[in-house]
Amino acid sequence: MSCVLTLNAGSSSIKFGVYNAAPEPDLLAVGLVEKLESATPHLVLHQGSDTTEHTLSEGGHDAAVIAILAAVTPVLAGRKVAAVGHRIVHGGPDHSGPARVTPEMLADLERYVPFAPLHQPHNLSAVRAAMVAFPDAVQVGCFDTAFHRGHPFVNDTFALPRRFYDKGVRRYGFHGLSYDFISGELDRIDPDDHHRRTIVCHLGNGASLCAIRGGRSVGSTMGFSALDGLPMGTRCGQIDPGVVLYLLDQEGMTSSEISGLLYKESGLKGMSGLSNDMRELLASDRAEAAQAVDYFVFRIRREIGAMAAVLGGLDTLVFCGGIGENAGEIRAKVCEGMDWLGILLDRTANETPFSQPGGVVSEGEVTVRVLRTDEERIIARAASAALE
Ligand code: ADP
Repeated sequence: MSCVLTLNAGSSSIKFGVYNAAPEPDLLAVGLVEKLESATPHLVLHQGSDTTEHTLSEGGHDAAVIAILAAVTPVLAGRKVAAVGHRIVHGGPDHSGPARVTPEMLADLERYVPFAPLHQPHNLSAVRAAMVAFPDAVQVGCFDTAFHRGHPFVNDTFALPRRFYDKGVRRYGFHGLSYDFISGELDRIDPDDHHRRTIVCHLGNGASLCAIRGGRSVGSTMGFSALDGLPMGTRCGQIDPGVVLYLLDQEGMTSSEISGLLYKESGLKGMSGLSNDMRELLASDRAEAAQAVDYFVFRIRREIGAMAAVLGGLDTLVFCGGIGENAGEIRAKVCEGMDWLGILLDRTANETPFSQPGGVVSEGEVTVRVLRTDEERIIARAASAALE
C-alpha cells in the first residue's frame, strides 16, 4: 500500500502528516519543522506515543522538505509516498476544488502571490521542494479559497470600479479546508444537516465565520485577504479603509509598516498589549485584556447576525479551532442573550463538549455543536483521491 504526505507550509514552519492512501486515510505520523528562517531549524515527529526531534543544519523550505523525507522514511517502512498534498492559501477565482499541481499550474499559481504575499510564496516554495524531493509523487494543491468559490456576485465583489473585479480583486474567503472538513462532519453526524442553514465559527489564531448551505459556503467574514472580518490573534479584522489612508498620509507609515501593524501587531495582541493567546487573556485581570476579549466576542456575535441574514435563518451553529474547541467561556459569551435567534446554550454540556453526542452543547431551537476541525485530513483525502 502507498502513502500520502501532507504539507502545510508557512513562512517559518512546515507542518506535515503521513497517512496511508485511502478514501478515509489513517494518520501514521505527524510532525513540524520550525524556525525555517534560522540556520538551525528544528524538526519534531510524533508517531504513536513516540516523539523524535532533531536540529537541521540548513534553513529554508528546500532543506526542510528533504529533512521531512528523511524523517518519514522509517514511518513508510518501504512503502512509497505516491502523492503529496499541499495547503495553498490562494487558488484565485478558478479553483473550486483540489487540483493536480504541474509545473505549468505552479507558474499559474504564482499570479496570486500579490494577492497573498505573506503566505502564497511559502506554499509554492514547498510545492517546488516536494517536486524535487518526491519526483515520482503526484502533487495536489488544496486551496483555502476553494470552498468559498461560487458565492453570488453580490458576495464576491467590492463596490469598486468593475475593472478591479475583472483583475481578481474580489472577496475570496479563507479557512476553506476547515469548513470543508466541518461540513463533511455535519453530513456524517446528521445527513439532514447538509441542507440546513449552518454558521461555522473557526476561532483559532486566525478566525472567521462561514455560512454554509448544501455543503457549500454562501458567506465568509474574510474577503480579499485573510485580514478581514473578525479580530484575530494578531490581525485587525474589519477596519475602515480610511484608517489605512490615514496611516499612510498622516502617520507617514510605509506599506510594509502598515502590513506589519495590521497582520502582526493588532487583534487580541495589539488591543490587550499583553498576548495573542486567548488563555492568557482570560486569565489576566488587566482591563485591556478584558476589552480585547469583549471586542472579539462582540464581533463574532455581530457577524453571526449578519450570516443568519445571508442564510435567511439559522439551524446549526458550530464552534471549532483552538478557541472554539477549548474555550467554553468564549462560547458562553458568544451565545449569551442570543435566544432571539433560537440559540440557547446548555451550560453543563458546554463545559464537556466532547463527551456530548455529536458535540451538541445547546438546548434551544438552533443546534450548537463543538467539533474538532482537521484541515490536514481534507488534504490527505484529496491527495488519496488523486491516486484513484
Ligand atoms: P492556528 O490558527 O494557529 O491553527 P489554533 O486553532 O491552534 O491556531 O488556536 C490557537 C488559539 O487557541 C490561541 O489563542 C490559544 O490561546 C487558544 N486556545 C487553545 N486552548 C485554549 C483553551 N483551553 N482555552 C482558551 N483558549 C485556548
